[in-house]
Amino acid sequence: MERSMRSSIDDTTVPLVSCEVCLKRVAKDVAPQADAPNYVAYFCSETCLQRWHAQHGRDAAAR
Ligand SMILES: [Zn+2]
Repeated sequence: MERSMRSSIDDTTVPLVSCEVCLKRVAKDVAPQADAPNYVAYFCSETCLQRWHAQHGRDAAAR
């Protein structure tokens, strides 16, 4: 397993995704992700992932 620290994201070689919560751009490789009903959501950090779960989890559970 290769674990390299990326201090900066190279836009030309690394596929980027936008954080579902704060819309920050992050490398797809390292972004935490969650399965939504119709798509996969990506996040810049565990904090945003948990924030998203808090909102959407409640929504989904209610129905
Ligand atoms: Zn974020």
